[in-house]
Parts: sequence; structure tokens; C-alpha cells
Amino acid sequence: MRTLFWLQTGSCGGDSLAILSAEAPSLQQLLEKQTIELLWHPSLSHAPTSRHRLLLESIESGEQRLDILCVEGSIVTAPRGTGMYDSYHGRSKMDITRDLAERAGVVVAIGTCAAFGGIPAADPNPSDCIGLQFVRSQPGGLFPPDWRSQDGLPVINIAGCPAHPHAMTQTLAWIASGLELPLDALNRPKAFFDNMVHQGCTRNEHHEYDIEDTELGGSGCLFFNLGCQGPMTQAVCNNDLWNGVSSKPRAGVPCVGCTGPDFPREASFFNTERIGKIPARLPLGVERPRYMAYKSLANAAAPQRLKKESSEK
Ligand code: SF4
Repeated sequence: MRTLFWLQTGSCGGDSLAILSAEAPSLQQLLEKQTIELLWHPSLSHAPTSRHRLLLESIESGEQRLDILCVEGSIVTAPRGTGMYDSYHGRSKMDITRDLAERAGVVVAIGTCAAFGGIPAADPNPSDCIGLQFVRSQPGGLFPPDWRSQDGLPVINIAGCPAHPHAMTQTLAWIASGLELPLDALNRPKAFFDNMVHQGCTRNEHHEYDIEDTELGGSGCLFFNLGCQGPMTQAVCNNDLWNGVSSKPRAGVPCVGCTGPDFPREASFFNTERIGKIPARLPLGVERPRYMAYKSLANAAAPQRLKKESSEK
């Protein structure tokens, strides 16, 4: 039986809400079938808070084994590096996180805030927020880049704002099974962060032929004018639909790139910055001159049915 403790730090609680909608496996199945014992979750545990304090003490003393520590939220380090803007019974959550992590077999950053700092760490970052092992895209946060948990792993980053429900439950199931979990350069599990949001989007054909929407509510691609980050963002949103139903781009809302380390970008969510006529940020790995050449031909080659469909919206 693997033990799991869920700690909330500088967080809106959105990841806790998101994980409740997981179905494959659901949180309940994860706890029942993957032999995980949930020691504590701030929203789901119904034991008195005195139990919470005792648990913290027994984990920190080594009396209670901790296999998986999930941290939801960014680490508040203000004021002046004390972390006391986010405290619990006279101790900063920053210190509590550090002490629990030193005891944990595996530490999992749940959501972009815990992984990279996220929204609380966005400029001007008044509470001096950081991620567990990154500050935005820079390695090193609460823990230095070479820090490793008791099982010899870096902090595993399940990025997303909120994190995708199945990225959370399947990663936890994977960890509980003891199998090796391949990670990318940002310590995100590759299984959930290898594909672009762009892949699997129902508007992809429109993107290919440069049929681009200029206002929300159409059927065209949202990349050129409406700020879609799908071609630059690694996540499963268009392959494993939210609630089994949809995704932002499928529903006509631009992807905001919430699984990336620089989320939120200092730019409008619904507007594409351009250099000349071409977006300033291009699909990951694409060269600007080739993209310009391709785009100038794509619209001319677009099938009439797509042009017609777009003009009718
Ligand atoms: S709407 Fe976004 S995700 Fe969909 S095809 Fe266009 S750029 Fe890609």
C-alpha cells in the first residue's frame, strides 16, 4: 500500500476540482485499485484537523512512511524569504513542503503553479512565488536542479492550469505501480506532454489551409488572429477530451498554453502578436522563412468547402 499526502500551498484549488472529474482511472478507482492510501487531502479528508497536525509530525519524524507527496499550488516565499504569507500553525507552508519532501519517496507538482510558479508567480509576483524545482522556465525553485526525492527522482511536474484529470490520475497510478516514468526536459511525464494541443484539434484542416478566424464564434483556426497557443503547447487536451466531451479549441476558445513554464504569458489571451503578417511565435520547431512560404500558398490551395464554411459563420 502506497501512502499519499496532498498539500495545498499558493493555490486556487482548481487541480483538486479537476481530479474529481477523472474517469480512467477515477480518483476512487485509483485509491481502491492502485493500492494507494490517501493520508490526507484538504478537501476530501473528513478527519479533524488535529489529525492533520499529528500526521505532519509523524511524517516529519519518520514514524509515518510517505511514498507520494502531491503539492498543489506555488510556493509563497514572501515576505523577505520567510514564506509566512502562506502559513499553517506558525510555520510557513514553504518550510512544511521542504520538510515533507525530504521524507517522500516521490514528489509530484500538481498543476502549473507547483511546477513552475504559474499565475501567482506572474509579474509583479507580490508574494514572491516560485515552483518546486523551477521558477518559470529556469531550473531551481524551492529545490535546486540536482535535488532528488528518496526514490531518486526529481519533482515530477504534472503541469496544467488546471492539470488534466487523467494526466494526474494516470501518473499517480504509474508511480504506484513502480514502473519507470519517462520525463521530458521540464520533468513532465512524456506520456502526457509529448503531443501538441494542435494535434487532434478539429480545426486543424483550417490551420493547414490558412482559413483563420478573426473573431470568436467561427469554425476556423484560432492561431493567426485569436492567440491560440495549440501549436506551441504540449498537452493531451485534444486527444483525451475534458470530461470526455471537448477542449478549449474544439469549443472555439484559444488554447492559452497553460502547461508551459511561461504561463501566463505577458500578452492577451485572445490576440496574436505578429511580426509583419506572420505570428511572432510559430508552431514549435518551425522555421520562419519556410512558414512564410508555406502560408502564402496554403490559402490559395484551400478547398472551396472550407472557404464556404468559414464565410457562412
Ligand atoms: S485552433 Fe489552435 S489548436 Fe486548433 S488547429 Fe488552430 S492553432 Fe491548432
